Amino acid sequence: MDCLFCSIVAGKIPSSRVYEDDVCYAFRDIHPQAPVHILVIPKEHICCANAVTSENSATVAKIFEVIPVIAAEQGIDKSGYRVLTNCGDDACQTVKHLHFHILGGRKLSEEMA
Ligand code: 5GP
Ligand code: ZN
Repeated sequence: MDCLFCSIVAGKIPSSRVYEDDVCYAFRDIHPQAPVHILVIPKEHICCANAVTSENSATVAKIFEVIPVIAAEQGIDKSGYRVLTNCGDDACQTVKHLHFHILGGRKLSEEMA
Protein backbone atom coordinates (compact mmCIF):
# COMPACT_ATOMS: atom_id res chain seq x y z
CA MET A 1 0.00 0.00 0.00
CA ASP A 2 1.27 3.41 -0.95
CA CYS A 3 0.70 5.54 2.14
CA LEU A 4 2.75 8.63 2.93
CA PHE A 5 2.44 8.33 6.70
CA CYS A 6 3.17 4.57 6.69
CA SER A 7 6.34 5.50 4.78
CA ILE A 8 7.19 8.10 7.42
CA VAL A 9 6.67 5.54 10.22
CA ALA A 10 8.91 3.11 8.33
CA GLY A 11 11.60 5.80 8.02
CA LYS A 12 11.46 5.70 4.21
CA ILE A 13 10.53 9.38 4.17
CA PRO A 14 12.33 11.68 6.61
CA SER A 15 10.37 13.53 9.27
CA SER A 16 11.06 15.70 12.27
CA ARG A 17 10.20 13.28 15.09
CA VAL A 18 9.03 14.63 18.42
CA TYR A 19 7.75 11.42 20.03
CA GLU A 20 7.64 7.69 19.36
CA ASP A 21 6.54 4.55 21.15
CA ASP A 22 5.42 1.10 20.02
CA VAL A 23 1.93 2.35 19.10
CA CYS A 24 2.27 5.89 17.83
CA TYR A 25 4.57 8.37 16.17
CA ALA A 26 4.55 12.16 16.29
CA PHE A 27 6.35 14.58 13.98
CA ARG A 28 6.25 18.20 12.89
CA ASP A 29 3.89 19.14 10.10
CA ILE A 30 5.77 20.10 6.96
CA HIS A 31 3.52 23.16 6.46
CA PRO A 32 2.97 24.43 10.01
CA GLN A 33 -0.17 26.48 10.55
CA ALA A 34 0.85 27.55 14.05
CA PRO A 35 4.16 27.91 15.93
CA VAL A 36 3.59 24.37 17.21
CA HIS A 37 2.00 22.07 14.63
CA ILE A 38 2.56 18.39 15.28
CA LEU A 39 0.90 15.34 13.79
CA VAL A 40 0.31 12.29 15.98
CA ILE A 41 -0.39 9.09 14.08
CA PRO A 42 -0.91 5.41 14.83
CA LYS A 43 1.90 3.21 13.55
CA GLU A 44 -0.69 0.82 12.20
CA HIS A 45 -2.54 2.02 9.12
CA ILE A 46 -6.00 3.33 10.02
CA CYS A 47 -7.44 5.39 7.20
CA CYS A 48 -9.47 7.91 9.18
CA ALA A 49 -11.84 8.39 12.11
CA ASN A 50 -14.46 6.32 10.26
CA ALA A 51 -12.22 3.28 10.61
CA VAL A 52 -11.87 3.45 14.41
CA THR A 53 -13.47 0.34 15.93
CA SER A 54 -13.44 -1.63 19.16
CA GLU A 55 -10.49 -3.53 17.61
CA ASN A 56 -8.21 -0.49 17.34
CA SER A 57 -9.67 2.09 19.72
CA ALA A 58 -6.98 1.32 22.32
CA THR A 59 -4.50 2.75 19.82
CA VAL A 60 -6.50 5.96 19.64
CA ALA A 61 -6.73 6.07 23.44
CA LYS A 62 -2.96 5.74 23.61
CA ILE A 63 -2.59 8.65 21.21
CA PHE A 64 -4.75 10.77 23.51
CA GLU A 65 -2.57 9.73 26.44
CA VAL A 66 0.49 10.90 24.55
CA ILE A 67 -0.95 14.22 23.34
CA PRO A 68 -0.70 15.98 26.74
CA VAL A 69 2.84 14.64 27.17
CA ILE A 70 3.82 16.17 23.84
CA ALA A 71 1.99 19.41 24.70
CA ALA A 72 3.93 19.67 27.96
CA GLU A 73 7.23 18.97 26.18
CA GLN A 74 6.41 21.70 23.67
CA GLY A 75 5.49 24.13 26.46
CA ILE A 76 1.92 24.68 25.31
CA ASP A 77 0.02 22.68 27.93
CA LYS A 78 -0.64 25.72 30.12
CA SER A 79 -1.41 28.22 27.36
CA GLY A 80 -3.60 25.76 25.52
CA TYR A 81 -3.76 23.99 22.21
CA ARG A 82 -6.18 22.47 19.71
CA VAL A 83 -6.39 18.81 18.67
CA LEU A 84 -8.21 17.95 15.47
CA THR A 85 -8.59 15.24 12.91
CA ASN A 86 -9.95 15.65 9.41
CA CYS A 87 -12.08 12.79 8.09
CA GLY A 88 -13.04 12.60 4.43
CA ASP A 89 -13.42 15.03 1.59
CA ASP A 90 -15.63 17.67 3.19
CA ALA A 91 -13.08 17.97 5.99
CA CYS A 92 -10.28 18.24 3.37
CA GLN A 93 -8.42 15.18 4.63
CA THR A 94 -5.43 14.98 2.31
CA VAL A 95 -3.50 12.06 3.83
CA LYS A 96 -5.63 8.96 4.24
CA HIS A 97 -3.87 7.72 7.38
CA LEU A 98 -5.49 8.74 10.66
CA HIS A 99 -3.68 11.69 12.20
CA PHE A 100 -4.33 14.19 14.95
CA HIS A 101 -3.09 17.72 14.53
CA ILE A 102 -1.79 19.44 17.66
CA LEU A 103 -1.87 23.19 17.08
CA GLY A 104 -0.65 25.77 19.54
CA GLY A 105 1.91 28.37 20.46
CA ARG A 106 -0.36 31.31 19.69
CA LYS A 107 -3.97 32.34 20.17
CA LEU A 108 -5.88 30.27 17.64
CA SER A 109 -8.88 31.34 15.62
CA GLU A 110 -12.27 31.11 17.29
CA GLU A 111 -13.49 29.67 14.01
CA MET A 112 -13.16 25.93 13.62
CA ALA A 113 -14.65 25.64 10.17
P1 5GP B 1 -4.92 16.65 6.55
O1 5GP B 1 -5.23 17.79 5.64
O2 5GP B 1 -4.99 15.32 5.84
O3 5GP B 1 -5.69 16.69 7.83
O4 5GP B 1 -3.43 16.88 7.03
C1 5GP B 1 -2.32 16.35 6.41
C2 5GP B 1 -1.16 17.13 6.94
O5 5GP B 1 0.02 16.45 6.58
C3 5GP B 1 -1.05 18.55 6.36
O6 5GP B 1 -1.10 19.50 7.42
C4 5GP B 1 0.27 18.54 5.64
O7 5GP B 1 0.99 19.75 5.76
C5 5GP B 1 1.02 17.39 6.28
N1 5GP B 1 1.96 16.72 5.42
C6 5GP B 1 1.73 16.32 4.13
N2 5GP B 1 2.83 15.71 3.65
C7 5GP B 1 3.75 15.73 4.64
C8 5GP B 1 5.09 15.25 4.72
O8 5GP B 1 5.65 14.66 3.80
N3 5GP B 1 5.74 15.45 5.90
C9 5GP B 1 5.16 16.09 6.95
N4 5GP B 1 5.89 16.24 8.05
N5 5GP B 1 3.89 16.55 6.91
C10 5GP B 1 3.21 16.38 5.76
ZN1 ZN C 1 -0.76 4.49 6.32
